[in-house]
Amino acid sequence: MKYDYLVVGAGLFGAVFARQAADAGKRVLVIDKRPHIAGNVYTEAVEGIQVHQYGAHIFHTNDKAVWAYVQRFAEFNRFTNSPVANYHGELYSLPFNMYTFNRMWGVVTPAQAEAKIAEQRRAAGITEPRNLEEQAISLVGTDIYEKLIKGYTQKQWGRACTDLPAFIIKRLPVRFTFDNNYFNALYQGIPVGGYTAMVARMLAGIEVRLNTDYLADKAALDALADRVVYTGPIDAYFGNCLGPLAYRSVRFETEVLDQPNFQGNAAVNYTDAETPWTRIIEHKWFEFGKGADGQDLPKTVISREYSSEWKPGDEPYYPVNDAQNGALYKAYKALAEKEEKVVFGGRLGEYKYYDMDQVIASALSCAERLLR
Ligand code: FAD
Ligand code: UDP
Repeated sequence: MKYDYLVVGAGLFGAVFARQAADAGKRVLVIDKRPHIAGNVYTEAVEGIQVHQYGAHIFHTNDKAVWAYVQRFAEFNRFTNSPVANYHGELYSLPFNMYTFNRMWGVVTPAQAEAKIAEQRRAAGITEPRNLEEQAISLVGTDIYEKLIKGYTQKQWGRACTDLPAFIIKRLPVRFTFDNNYFNALYQGIPVGGYTAMVARMLAGIEVRLNTDYLADKAALDALADRVVYTGPIDAYFGNCLGPLAYRSVRFETEVLDQPNFQGNAAVNYTDAETPWTRIIEHKWFEFGKGADGQDLPKTVISREYSSEWKPGDEPYYPVNDAQNGALYKAYKALAEKEEKVVFGGRLGEYKYYDMDQVIASALSCAERLLR
């Protein structure tokens, strides 16, 4: 065997695993079917702006070890995510906080906001939330649910809020303070110079073959290495033999505009059901509107995001963690455990709604287990 490890996928899971294995003296080959490294965190400079080609990525974590790890490969800026919600032209602060409650109800104190939410929760008669709708109403009341959650969530997931698990909405903080920071994280920022440069540093000195589809040439590629770390979709690995898992896909419509400022913020969510896109990203604000040498940039780049159900040929972005797909994933996982040579990792390999920091933590612990 020429390599100890064949790593399928040059996204964060694959790059971190490959780095750890190479540092442990293993011979590693990384392949990716795309023409570039970095998976979904891939960024590319357009008009001097780092464009997040597969959707906006804000690094945030409470995990000190992960934060220390990424510092080895990039310097992070002080970007704090504070998206704005646009509901038919009314603008609200996100996540749900005192600015949002004030705009929605005119309340001024935390006690008034809490009383308003409690009143709406009581009127809805929810005691034990059983789905995303009930969870949302019990967290923030019916007005916020109707204006800021219902339409956005149904566009994002293509399912009614009553058919979605409660945990999805629990990702969002609810605060009775004037704090627009979207994340409850000790550490947050964007790698200066973009994510692609960060992943390139992770992969420094490691052989990478792009435009190489593992599943199209599996036997020949398997013959190159003792073990395989596979970060593609788990159902595709098994030829969808138990039926396809559901994924949500996203289509991005990116435009360069000959103006310096389109929306004044990195992210604006369109939370009504009628606007066809879920959000618009204006990439330059991830780096405060400045180019690499600190100058103001005359143009701007925006991306409208449209969410859709995944179908063959699309990129699978989000696992759909409902009961039916959870059960199907379990069946695939049982098959995966019988594949002695192969380890499955990452958002698609584990069919898990991982954030970047969680995927890095998972790759580090996988590497520790395998390389011990
Ligand atoms: P990926 O990045 O998907 O990498 C898998 C790689 O495997 C891909 O490059 C793919 O081409 C390759 N591959 C698949 N099949 C094959 C094959 N057969 N042969 C060869 N190669 C193959 N997380 C955050 O922390 N903050 C955010 O703000 C955030 N925003 C997000 C926004 C969007 C729209 C999405 C979709 C995700 C977001 N995430 C965010 C999550 C983040 O993208 C993931 O946690 C992370 O990128 C997962 O890394 P991965 O290596 O598991 O998967
Ligand atoms: N959400 C919402 N309105 C918003 C933003 C988010 O209802 O303006 C809901 C939606 O259901 C989404 C969930 O909150 O799926 C989690 O949001 P997050 O921003 O974490 O989603 P991501 O795109 O990062 O998965």
